Amino acid sequence: LDRVFRETADRLRACVREEYLLAHLGSDEFMVMLSNDVCADEATILAEGILERIRQPFYIDNHEINITTSIGVSQYPDNGDDAATLMRRAEAAMFEAKNGGGNRFCFYQTGMSGFVERRLEIENQLRHAIERDEFKLHYQPVVDLQNNQLRGVEVLLRWHNNELRNPRPDTFIKIAEESGLIVDIGSWVLERACQQIMEWRNSGLPELSVAVNISARQFIEGDIVERVASALKRSGLPAHQLELEITEGLLINDAPTIREIFSALKNLGVRVSLDDFGTGYASLSYLKRYPFDVLKIDRSFVHDINESEDSVTLVNAIIAMAHSFNMKVIAEGVENLQQRRILRERQCDMVQGYLYSPPLNADNFADWVKR
Ligand code: C2E
Ligand code: CA
Ligand code: CA
Ligand code: CA
Repeated sequence: LDRVFRETADRLRACVREEYLLAHLGSDEFMVMLSNDVCADEATILAEGILERIRQPFYIDNHEINITTSIGVSQYPDNGDDAATLMRRAEAAMFEAKNGGGNRFCFYQTGMSGFVERRLEIENQLRHAIERDEFKLHYQPVVDLQNNQLRGVEVLLRWHNNELRNPRPDTFIKIAEESGLIVDIGSWVLERACQQIMEWRNSGLPELSVAVNISARQFIEGDIVERVASALKRSGLPAHQLELEITEGLLINDAPTIREIFSALKNLGVRVSLDDFGTGYASLSYLKRYPFDVLKIDRSFVHDINESEDSVTLVNAIIAMAHSFNMKVIAEGVENLQQRRILRERQCDMVQGYLYSPPLNADNFADWVKR
């Protein structure tokens, strides 16, 4: 990553005139301050130049690297008359650019900061969520389609924070990822999930496998192998009962380190699933290189199968392909009997979804199993 930042900084330096101030704010954030007598056109030309230059791919160890840039612009004195306000508003505009898909720039407009302020507040409170005991795990049953037996659970994180009105997982997990907090939060999830499965086993519930979602950042930055090994050791959970769910985005650059981590995890004996299959990238070549145990069909495909023949064809092809790579298939988001029937006919191995149960807290899950 250091080399990526350095290359980015060099390219920026080449775009920026000498009399402007260029600063590296940390990680992947940079700031340029133009002198106070230039007009907005100057900022537009500069922003376009930066986007153009950084968009060019570059190569590290024979790997092609592509970077997306999002730029936010704030102007003195229209958007503020002190540096702190101007930077906050430039950041608000930057998020606007990013949410619009990146590779673009935005000028600050009133109203943009509400979003950034909430985001900052979520990030600040996330820092204390573990010590304040605000996280809870929910468990969603995964059911074997051929015999309707419970096979395991997927663990889904919930955050109870009244002040912020309990942000949804999609929202706070994205922020945890962007801020790097996901590394520690993810470890907490891993530890807690393994312990819970052992507690259930000791209280007489059937043996369950447990699937935990792992973000790209945990995989790359978080000595994931040690953390998984330690969660297994401390809980006593047998490795083959733990499943790690990762998404294809992680594999797109196909770095050698990712392959090493992948095989180190497999050597521990844990299983690895490919989550949200079908929503990411077109290249399937990584299926050959990464021996996934499980493929999870994204719920957007499942959603359509009782309305569209094309979706059935697609799901059918995905299942056949996964089986030919010796992977088991889980369909997620199964909500009705018709979807289940189609999936069963097409030899899908397992399902999860509201048809069986939404994610439940630990007590309710135990009751669900005994029902
Ligand atoms: P995901 O991994 O794709 O998880 C499945 C999502 O589908 C969950 O949303 C679940 O509640 C929802 N779902 C389950 N069955 C159905 C159904 O029948 N219909 C519909 N419409 N939805 C269903 P949730 O809990 O809001 O989590 C959202 C995402 O947040 C997850 O998507 C996952 O990417 C992420 N996430 C959750 N917990 C963790 C965690 O501990 N670590 C990490 N890294 N990510 C997590
Ligand atoms: Ca950033
Ligand atoms: Ca998942
Ligand atoms: Ca999923």
